[in-house]
Amino acid sequence: MDFGWQGVSLRVPADWSLGKVDGNYKSGYARLDDSEIVRAEVEWREAPPGSARRLPIPDLVDRYLEKLNKKAAKTGTEFSVQRRSKFLKDKRWLEGSDYETFTWEADFRAYNLARACGTCGRIILVRVLEPKHDSDPALAEEVFRSLNDHGTDGRIFWCIYGMSFWTPEELTLSTHGLKSGNIQLTFEMKGHICKVQRLSMAQVLLKETSLKEWYPSFFKKELRDFDYTLREESVKDHNGLRMEGGPRSRWRQLLRPLPFVNPRPRQYADSYIWHCEESNKICVVDHLYRKKGERGHLSLALTDAYACHQKKTEADSRGHDELATGQERTAEVGEER
Ligand SMILES: [Zn+2]
Ligand SMILES: [Zn+2]
Repeated sequence: MDFGWQGVSLRVPADWSLGKVDGNYKSGYARLDDSEIVRAEVEWREAPPGSARRLPIPDLVDRYLEKLNKKAAKTGTEFSVQRRSKFLKDKRWLEGSDYETFTWEADFRAYNLARACGTCGRIILVRVLEPKHDSDPALAEEVFRSLNDHGTDGRIFWCIYGMSFWTPEELTLSTHGLKSGNIQLTFEMKGHICKVQRLSMAQVLLKETSLKEWYPSFFKKELRDFDYTLREESVKDHNGLRMEGGPRSRWRQLLRPLPFVNPRPRQYADSYIWHCEESNKICVVDHLYRKKGERGHLSLALTDAYACHQKKTEADSRGHDELATGQERTAEVGEER
């Protein structure tokens, strides 16, 4: 299963899913859990500015372990560290980057990789945790090897609970909601807001209604400031809709009891909505923009780069079937920020 967030991505076993995520592009943290324990953690930090490309990774590890030692002492946990431990069989992929591998043992064994990316300079600390009695460095190595810490061709990869898409790197994540059954990520750049959303249990939502009837009633609040058109259109070979909207005329807005001091921004909307039967999801991509001439093709680009279901022809389709059943798990993930 893939995990991708703020340009950091990892491939992990199918039963590891996102438990916590925090921070932003500059620095952040994510945790992946299986049904019992924390299995992986990843921390990232932007490269320091200026020409200081040679980064003191060992110093960073010193500081990190110091903190960990203090924590362990407080709780009386037995704690041992091995610096520069040699659990990786193949280190060729790390060539050209400053890095250190180390392990520590407390209640479980933790395999760590601290690295400054040779390409973008981003500093990453990845940790894979394993029960002491059942510890396999090969699994940690596999996870480490899948690590990618920067965008590709100006695009950032996102993947959570099997929902995966790419965004242009000019867009910055502003808020996210990772409730089970309703995942939404909102991105912004000057004058533009994009929202990518996925609703589970489409079959239930559309039980006695059509997508075209369901959409305006479900998104009534979001649509109230728009004069819009809605038409049926095939989206990614699925039954879908295209919504195009502009600001409602001022006089009509005046009829509503809105606080005048802070009127809602007048904006335009360009959205794709589709029902992916294969994954039983409803997907929505919105692009809101302030100036009439600035629509461009952002919503189409986001829709094109959104993988709503796994193609059956893929060689590893078995793994993805497992993944599909894992998607409905309840997410105890960070609230909207
Ligand atoms: Zn990088
Ligand atoms: Zn689909």
